[in-house]
Amino acid sequence: IGASVAGLGELYGKVQSILGATEHIREVLDETPEPTHLAPTVGLVPAQISGDIRYEHVAFHYPTRPDIAVLQDIDFHIKPGEKIALVGPSGAGKSTIASLLMQFYQLSGGRILVDGHDVRDYDLTALRRHIGIVPQETLLFGGTIRENIAYGKPTATDDEIMAAARQANAWQFISSFPEGLDAVVGDRGIKLSGGQRQRVAIARAILKNPAILILDEATSALDSESEKLVQGALDELLQHRTSIIIAHRLSTIRKVDKILVIDGGRIVEAGSHDELSEREGGLYANLLRLQFELS
Ligand code: ADP
Ligand code: MG
Repeated sequence: IGASVAGLGELYGKVQSILGATEHIREVLDETPEPTHLAPTVGLVPAQISGDIRYEHVAFHYPTRPDIAVLQDIDFHIKPGEKIALVGPSGAGKSTIASLLMQFYQLSGGRILVDGHDVRDYDLTALRRHIGIVPQETLLFGGTIRENIAYGKPTATDDEIMAAARQANAWQFISSFPEGLDAVVGDRGIKLSGGQRQRVAIARAILKNPAILILDEATSALDSESEKLVQGALDELLQHRTSIIIAHRLSTIRKVDKILVIDGGRIVEAGSHDELSEREGGLYANLLRLQFELS
């Protein structure tokens, strides 16, 4: 049984990364895909939001898999400026929880509120303007580095773009290209490493300066040297915004206000690092021990 479970996990991982990649192509190419439900044509268009987030008994299944309840009774509140971390095994539903905030899909139950309003009451583009995401795997579109960084703020000046790139520790490799910001990335241009692409995504988020930030395993593609470099940039980026941090390395989330442990699409534990790490037999305590033993 052990072997077949491990095999299943691996298969899940593969399917998931393919499915995940599709999502990210969507994120990169078009931040405003048609939602699967009928969004109001006129919605709230806030110039600013404070970043209060409430998930109320959220239930969800992917439209392609109505038989599988991916999330059940997800219920939490993040106050403006607070940071929460989602941890748990691969396939638990962490990325799905975060992506529902962007309204890629219709919920099957419950609701999500931003600043007290149901996300469905917002103009989709207007809401997404206030949310930045550094995804698990960043795909850039085939354009210049400048275009890729300025995606969330097309009016940005070169000085602003350079400053964001510096802060994301991306300037060093960008300036090493003869064309600099005009270097074309993608199939017809320069191939960037996973870590470089991730730093471009971080620069994009810095430039966008959103009230709400989602980091989905944002340092997973980095080696430990560049992780150290980027961690500093991320810490800075996290200041003064509501943040949802999905982390596979538990060492990166000790400073958050609250940790939600997700397993099988449910919140199975919630609390601070200190509370959860001392809980005998708890999943978080076990994950911690496992990571400690592996490292
Ligand atoms: P995590 O981020 O915790 O690893 P995910 O939120 O990516 O987990 O996935 C939760 C579950 O939903 C998994 O079983 C995964 O296979 C499934 N899933 C993820 N994305 C999709 C999708 N686009 N379509 C169908 N199922 C999906
Ligand atoms: Mg994920």
